[in-house]
Amino acid sequence: MRVSGGLSWVLTGCAVLVALMAFGRVASPLREWMAWLALVGVGIALFLAYQEQKRLRQARQQQQELQERLERLEQAMAQQRQGLRVLLDGLPVPLMLCERDATLRYANHTALEWFGFRSVQGKSLLALTLCYDLYSFFREGVRQEAQFTRSITLSFPQTRHVLASMWPVLDEEGTEWFAVVLLDQSELVRVEQVRRDFVANVSHEFRTPLASIRSLAETILEDPHMPSETRNRFLTTIVQEVERMTRIAEDLLVLSHAESLPPQREPVDLVPLIQQVVQQLQSEAQRHHIQIETELPDQLILPAQRDQMVQVLLNLLTNAIRYNKPNGRVWVRAFRKSLSAPSERSEVVLIEVQDTGIGIMSEHLPRIFERFYRVDKARSRETGGTGLGLSIVKHIVEAHGGRVEVESEYRVGSTFRVILPAST
Ligand code: ADP
Repeated sequence: MRVSGGLSWVLTGCAVLVALMAFGRVASPLREWMAWLALVGVGIALFLAYQEQKRLRQARQQQQELQERLERLEQAMAQQRQGLRVLLDGLPVPLMLCERDATLRYANHTALEWFGFRSVQGKSLLALTLCYDLYSFFREGVRQEAQFTRSITLSFPQTRHVLASMWPVLDEEGTEWFAVVLLDQSELVRVEQVRRDFVANVSHEFRTPLASIRSLAETILEDPHMPSETRNRFLTTIVQEVERMTRIAEDLLVLSHAESLPPQREPVDLVPLIQQVVQQLQSEAQRHHIQIETELPDQLILPAQRDQMVQVLLNLLTNAIRYNKPNGRVWVRAFRKSLSAPSERSEVVLIEVQDTGIGIMSEHLPRIFERFYRVDKARSRETGGTGLGLSIVKHIVEAHGGRVEVESEYRVGSTFRVILPAST
């Protein structure tokens, strides 16, 4: 401004001098001076014009640089925002941003997936989640203006036990939002429920025989003249109940041991193992007039924990004898198989225990691997069952990366199939 002001003054001065000379109103020596003065003025004007041009160029350059820097900054910010969005969308927990009145401004990918929506434009938290408890939790959190957490059960589109957490956030423009995250705790709640049921079942399993032992012992004590035959019968029942409790305690120990440590796998040949278990149960099978047959290759090596494999075979074979009919049969087969399904390991080892026993009605099949589940309580009790045999089998097999399947026809027989990976 200063330069352009100076330049205009100089130019005006020059113009006045030239005008005076042109109109001849000044004396000739003075005209000469004025001509010089005008010349010098033009020189100064040219210099000032050059300076101004230079400053202008510099200012334009600075402006351009500033513009470029601003663009780079905006680009970086856009990249950051995009990165943040990718990060939030990739979070495996639902995260939502709401206005004070619970209108949703953003929901990450997991949140949309959970509630089956494609976008949240203009929806409220209540419309998205259909959960009034979550909505009132949000209202309460807005009132508190601080981090706020509560356990909530969602029922849409499926039941989920979540720990909801929310806190206020301010954006760059100073607008207040509320972030809400939901942590799925359904599995924790389920495991806790299983644990509670298990404790209740265990105490129930012990309470019944303990009550019976107590009443039998008291009866014996109260009647010193009890006929020896009755006393012997009572004492035998007491011994049987104690044996049953011991078996339950042993099975519980096996289960807890299998649960607490991952299997220590080593190459194990299943063939001698199966032969050893069959041999061990031969006398019990003979007592029930049951014939055991094996169909085995020369050798069948797989990575497994030896004593746990013995346990699996013992439990399945004991059941096949226990729940068989007189003069029934049991087949034990083991072989290697290639699976073609892409989701399965290509090579597996199959162990099949088939019997001609009482079979299992289809409505019981999904539950027989549960702890303490028995189809026929009386028969299980009579034959010394604990209700834990199949849950031990399932646990061991799954810990080895395999699975157990069962096929059964009521009154015809059952086939239990253990499928284990042939290599680690
Ligand atoms: P249990 O100690 O009672 O045998 P398990 O866990 O081994 O407990 O088996 C659970 C229930 O499954 C048994 O009580 C029985 O009703 C049924 N079951 C298991 N194996 C057989 C089988 N081979 N044939 C028929 N029923 C069976």
